[in-house]
Amino acid sequence: MQEKIIETAEILLKKGSNVIFTGAGISTESGIPDYRSQGGLWDKYQPVYFDDFMSREDARIEYWQQWKGLDQALNQAEPNMGHLAVAELYHLGYVQAVITQNIDGMHQASGIPENAVIELHGNARRIRCMRCSAISTTAAAQKRLASGDAAPCCDCGGYLKPDTVSFGQSMPMEKVRLAMTLSEQCDLFIVVGSTLLVQPAAHMPIYAKQNNAFLVIINLSDTPCDDAADLLIREKAGGVLDGILKAVKTKL
Ligand SMILES: [Zn+2]
Repeated sequence: MQEKIIETAEILLKKGSNVIFTGAGISTESGIPDYRSQGGLWDKYQPVYFDDFMSREDARIEYWQQWKGLDQALNQAEPNMGHLAVAELYHLGYVQAVITQNIDGMHQASGIPENAVIELHGNARRIRCMRCSAISTTAAAQKRLASGDAAPCCDCGGYLKPDTVSFGQSMPMEKVRLAMTLSEQCDLFIVVGSTLLVQPAAHMPIYAKQNNAFLVIINLSDTPCDDAADLLIREKAGGVLDGILKAVKTKL
């Protein structure tokens, strides 16, 4: 594994266009469950589909109830060694952008600026009005819920909704396009903690390979892109990313 870490660090040190793509596996070490896996949030709850949210109050109430628990868990979570290593690599100028499937806001919490984090599935730490698109805080939403307002609305009358991509809701196309462009134009693409099973995530490493990028996959289990990878590292994310950061720093 050490050899693979050093090889990755050497490519980062060339200061090309380097992109890190993260999935749930980078956040499990922060105690945030992979909500698509067994024992995750959707195992406990019936997911609320977007059309139901927009058309039925009982669905909105159910959705907010589920979010309440998620928000409490996210409030207690902190960026782990892996997030911090990615943030330091970004600030040292070795990583251009982070594309993430995660909705936990951990990359921003670790100090990466908002514009360098491309969130494909939104962010549960933000609330958005479905009519006027105004953004409000989770604290304000929790206050409304606590006061008995079980499905809060915006001042404009629109439904408020945690700013994540729900089941049946379309992807944020602008973010997807930006992620595709970054993937197509990068020299190094590092997948961290994603099984690459959902679209459009599954295609990003392929776009990168089509442009002859070097592809590194750090994930505990198989991914459909493993055959295309130049380096496969089957380890937990935190230690590997910290190792890469240390290797980069010793060669500075
Ligand atoms: Zn509004």
